[in-house]
Amino acid sequence: MAELHDSVSKVPGVGIVRAAALRRRGIQTVEDLLLQLPFRYEDRSKVSSISELIVGESYTFNVKVNRIQRLGHRRRNRVEAVVSDETGELKVVWFRQPYVADAIAKGDAVSVFGKVVEHDGNPQLVNPVLERGGGLHLGRLVPIYRRIGKLTPGVLRRLIDACIDLVGEIPESLPDLTRRRLQLAGRHEALVGIHRPASTADPSVLNAARSTAHQRLVCEEFLSLQTVLQLQRTQEKNELLGPVMIFDETSVAAILEVLPFRLTPGQDAALWTILSDMKSRVPMHRLLQGDVGCGKTAVAGGALLAAATAGYQAAIMVPTELLARQHSRWLAPWAASQGVSIECLTGTTSSGSKEQILGGLANGDTKILVGTHALLEPEVLFSKLGLAVIDEQHRFGVRQRASLREKGGANHHQCPHLLVMTATPIPRTLELTVYGDLDVCTIDDMPPGRQPVISQVVPATNWSRVVEMLVETVHRGEQAYVVTPRIKEGDDELSAAVQLQAELQRQLSGVRIGLLHGKQAQDERSSTMESFRAGQIDVLVSTTVVEVGVDVTNATLMVIGHAERFGLAQLHQLRGRVGRGSVQATCVFLAHEPLSKNAQSRLKAVQSTTDGFELAETDLSLRGPGELLGTRQAGVAGLRVGDLFRDHEWLELTCKEARRLVVAEDDESVEYCQRIRRYWGRRFAMTQTG
Ligand code: ADP
Ligand code: MG
Repeated sequence: MAELHDSVSKVPGVGIVRAAALRRRGIQTVEDLLLQLPFRYEDRSKVSSISELIVGESYTFNVKVNRIQRLGHRRRNRVEAVVSDETGELKVVWFRQPYVADAIAKGDAVSVFGKVVEHDGNPQLVNPVLERGGGLHLGRLVPIYRRIGKLTPGVLRRLIDACIDLVGEIPESLPDLTRRRLQLAGRHEALVGIHRPASTADPSVLNAARSTAHQRLVCEEFLSLQTVLQLQRTQEKNELLGPVMIFDETSVAAILEVLPFRLTPGQDAALWTILSDMKSRVPMHRLLQGDVGCGKTAVAGGALLAAATAGYQAAIMVPTELLARQHSRWLAPWAASQGVSIECLTGTTSSGSKEQILGGLANGDTKILVGTHALLEPEVLFSKLGLAVIDEQHRFGVRQRASLREKGGANHHQCPHLLVMTATPIPRTLELTVYGDLDVCTIDDMPPGRQPVISQVVPATNWSRVVEMLVETVHRGEQAYVVTPRIKEGDDELSAAVQLQAELQRQLSGVRIGLLHGKQAQDERSSTMESFRAGQIDVLVSTTVVEVGVDVTNATLMVIGHAERFGLAQLHQLRGRVGRGSVQATCVFLAHEPLSKNAQSRLKAVQSTTDGFELAETDLSLRGPGELLGTRQAGVAGLRVGDLFRDHEWLELTCKEARRLVVAEDDESVEYCQRIRRYWGRRFAMTQTG
């Protein structure tokens, strides 16, 4: 007998080599092995007669071995046999499995399962699964596992099946009440149902992972993940102290007074939610989401200034240098009007200015710091950091989010408020899981006067149409972007952009064309951006450096070259560079044939709507959650049983249940939470922030 947490080496058939192979896949315990779910099931339950076979189909036959021999080079190439049942005879061949000839002999009764093919005009069974006695690999609904290193599906089937006998009754892991509320099968019943499906089970239900056994295991996993997120959040709330900031309506109104526009109701609501978080002793941990162009910067700016006027320092981190400059440019006059000093720190800040900036941060003179990843460097230390904002947070890792927050300074017993922002909305179905530890608020309106961007997919062969549109745009006194990715593998984006600029310059005489790319020196890049902003450049040819955040209102035409190569989120972001004012804007997606099916779907989707949330859902269905979320959310990457897309209907239920569990006081719930904390602690060597 064994316990679930015993090492896999306790399982009969697992020696040193197999244990190592399993460990490489993160399978250490008997339980880990039991949680390797089959990815499909094959119905091998029906036994057929040789006389009824049809070439091309797969069958299970119960037969007697009449003849068997090893053939080919050193008699190792193939094993040939002739087998029969009451209805006829059949030839069988196994390639490169010489051991089959040792396993069975003339006269044996065996079961075989495989596909019948035609060879020299006769039916022949090729490489069939062979079983003596039967019951595990044949004669039933057979679970098919994904191969692990050298462990074949058949070997895994034997090992996993052995685990069940080894453990006996698999203990229940969920509180009774939880199981009843979610109406879940017991754990033993579920695992046995998965690995040893009943003869009455419906293979199509099993294959769709919709059996009650599957649902139980999916919920168990979601619940565990959601619970640990809630626990972390609760712990933060209880243990960490946030700076209690004091501001009133009039002082905030005075800050907003200076803006050239009034906040939209959505912006206003978001700002007040954030401000009320910042008044609390519980550190804010909030995600502000809103589609491209909805005006998140103004909301963040309001929060930064409110923190500064309340006597704290505040920082905003962005993914690109371009964006850092743009934010600090935009914030500087606003801050100045409130008597707040602001600095900008990036990777290219000269060492002289850097020293000065670091000095100002340390002695508290500098109140607001805008910057890139450079803010995370160890020498950047604040004297009283009260608010950390991360813009375009999907570009940063979880750890980076945490480390900006750790720069609290002398107030290190306090944990700064954290606001993260994103314009790459994640589907609401996933929000709960991915951001389970964040409070979320959404700006769902747009500044007044915005018109949806007209989106057109244009074949690349129709370049002359693009040239016309560029000319028309420039004649109207408006500006345009032309964005180009790498033209071919190995080609750098740079040469593509340079070539394109030269070509456009030839085709558009009298039009001022600028060039922007990541390899330019910082000052060259900012002066180009500056000229574009000032209207001294008409058409800006650029690599994808303009992708996030860049804001030039007079730009009304966006041309995306090789649009088929971009992901949906990127296309939406790029399109979001135009249509940021009240003038009608257009986005042209240049498509180069041939288009993959997926590329066609992406272009169709981006053309049909400008709603980022809708596109996020489409993106999810096109790519699947794994890729969409990447590895940036450790918790999500850690899912083994559940699939965020396939099983999304369980997310909300399990999230609610997790919220209930972390505050419940009955023994079972408390014990469950402790177990979950230990489990994830081991699995991710979880680091607590703050
Ligand atoms: P995003 O949410 O994509 O970061 P930005 O903050 O860059 O959007 O804002 C987009 C544009 O909208 C900017 O030019 C900004 O000045 C403008 N803007 C923001 N809020 C308002 C508003 N309430 N009224 C008018 N224009 C606004
Ligand atoms: Mg932005």
